[in-house]
Amino acid sequence: MAHEYENHAPMTMRMETPMPYEWSIGKYGSRFFQEIREKNQFIGIRCPGCGKVYIPPRRVCGPCFKELDELVELPNQGAITAFSIVNYPFIDPNTGIQRPIPYTYGYIRIDGADNIFSHIIDETDENKIKVGMRVRAVFKEKDAMQGHINDIKHFEIVD
Ligand SMILES: [Zn+2]
Repeated sequence: MAHEYENHAPMTMRMETPMPYEWSIGKYGSRFFQEIREKNQFIGIRCPGCGKVYIPPRRVCGPCFKELDELVELPNQGAITAFSIVNYPFIDPNTGIQRPIPYTYGYIRIDGADNIFSHIIDETDENKIKVGMRVRAVFKEKDAMQGHINDIKHFEIVD
């Protein structure tokens, strides 16, 4: 016996949930974005215990628990350690809007740093991007910078 609801078209329900979120990024996080905004300069921080350099700078070294305070300038370039070319729609949590696809999300070892920095890489052709390739940061124009990770527009391949 056919169910009496079978001939009804399925419906959708639209909901919008604004979720503004703001938190302190601390003195080192603030300094990191100030250096980018004012000088297009990356800074990291060196551990006095194990010598590791972290970007962005942080308060404590994870492996040895030393408190960190030696800021160091780092170049705005490095090498790709991993990447993913993304082809599914995704709401960018940094902007609240869908990032146009495809785009490439990359892990980058900034020269002189021991950890990995992640950001967008401006290459979506899988035949033109490889682990180990050299990349450099491309920044927004000065008057468009907001002290935000997106002040770095993306990284571009330089070799
Ligand atoms: Zn350490």
